[in-house]
Amino acid sequence: MAPGGVVSARLLRRHGDPHEALDVLLSSGTVHRVRRGWYDLPDADSAVLSAVASGGVLTCVSALRFHGVWVPPSETIHARPARDSMNLAAGVQQCAMGRRFPAPVLAVDPVALSLRAASGCLSREYLTAAVDSAIESRQVTRRDLDRSLWWATGRAHEVLGRTDWAQSGTESLVRQRLRGLHLRVRTQVAIDGVGRVDLLVGDRLVIETDSAAHHSGVEAYREDRRRDLVLASLGYRVLRLSWEQVVLDWPAVVGAILRIVDAGEHRWAA
Ligand SMILES: [Zn+2]
Repeated sequence: MAPGGVVSARLLRRHGDPHEALDVLLSSGTVHRVRRGWYDLPDADSAVLSAVASGGVLTCVSALRFHGVWVPPSETIHARPARDSMNLAAGVQQCAMGRRFPAPVLAVDPVALSLRAASGCLSREYLTAAVDSAIESRQVTRRDLDRSLWWATGRAHEVLGRTDWAQSGTESLVRQRLRGLHLRVRTQVAIDGVGRVDLLVGDRLVIETDSAAHHSGVEAYREDRRRDLVLASLGYRVLRLSWEQVVLDWPAVVGAILRIVDAGEHRWAA
């Protein structure tokens, strides 16, 4: 019950820990006081500590990253005030939150609440990717989101209305960007002997997106190569993209895709 290794006195009290226990832990050096009402355990996360030391808790994209949800790379620590005001440590930013955010008890906001916060900090494209990733990793359900987001920004509502079931944040980004170019893109298409492919552009251009979390280990590597071979023997073109390519090198990626499309190679020959 102490995400990030930082715990509030409010939570300790709620669980019935007498104050003497806290005194014992403090005097033995097991916990330290980060600031009034918040204590860190030996394994405390550095971003969480910075947020709490600033008078807040971790939220928004930083909390999503903490929970393993896909968010675009960023060094900034996103925090919201635990009470009224914050005294920001280096690298910490206070996110613009609407009203009616519950007062935090945990040092890291849960996923649904963090997505709601992120609707003010992320572009629509990145927010969609984060929502897709959170749903896919089963950290949040559509019902959680509906409950958490019903009073959120118009942007959040729009994103939730449009999200279809991408397997990862990276896949979600590619889908959105290619549809933005008016290409016909289908997601999670089943192909005989292969299984589901992430994206199919036109009839025969298969795009598989790797996220660092999903593809690790020898078995996944071998399975990907097996699929590639079957797809090639069936006449498909296959592009396998890393998240770094999608996020950091998109112009090169879209250039390659458009060259294939311009040559008509995304369609079966008439
Ligand atoms: Zn933020």
